[in-house]
Amino acid sequence: MRVLAFGAHPDDIEVGMGGTIARYSKNKHDVIMVIATIPNKKNIRQKEAENAAEILGAELLILDIDPNRMIFSRELVRRLDEVIQEYSPDIVYTHWNHDSHQDHVAVANAVIAATRKNNCSLYMYEQTIPGGIVPYGFRTQSFVDISEVIDTKIDAIMAHESQVAMNGEWWLYGVKGRAMYRGYQINVRYAEAFEVVKEVKKI
Ligand SMILES: [Zn+2]
Repeated sequence: MRVLAFGAHPDDIEVGMGGTIARYSKNKHDVIMVIATIPNKKNIRQKEAENAAEILGAELLILDIDPNRMIFSRELVRRLDEVIQEYSPDIVYTHWNHDSHQDHVAVANAVIAATRKNNCSLYMYEQTIPGGIVPYGFRTQSFVDISEVIDTKIDAIMAHESQVAMNGEWWLYGVKGRAMYRGYQINVRYAEAFEVVKEVKKI
């Protein structure tokens, strides 16, 4: 299967679904991590994203959209249309469309629009950490057991050294704690949770 994972910035995908990506790669599926924009420290963060993708066994595609043009627009949807058309994915992942960061919401809405004519499944990963409170609730509808690959997920996040330096170790505990909480809900050690936008079963 071919899996496309969209994130607004470097590290978003790793935090939201790094374990799930590691699982797909381990099972020999093709995963492409698509990053919309690098808002600052471009060279450093691009290298970090490359290292993280390598750890997860995924390909990396950086769209390099101007941070000031990160809005839900025809322009953004058209760009994502091209990516969807080029890769023709079976499964697509994106941000939660009620995330507290405006860039994350723009990507989520654009991905929902860009997958309108495609027969792929579409899932949204949980709000990025760090993130603020929003007046909506995440509907935890789908889980992936990431117990076997939790260390790979954390290693991929730690590859974003500039962000670890900025957010501190506390950040990693937050990510791991949420995975443990989601795991507890399905009786495994660690899990990642998703909202289902559409599920196309290819059986
Ligand atoms: Zn982000």
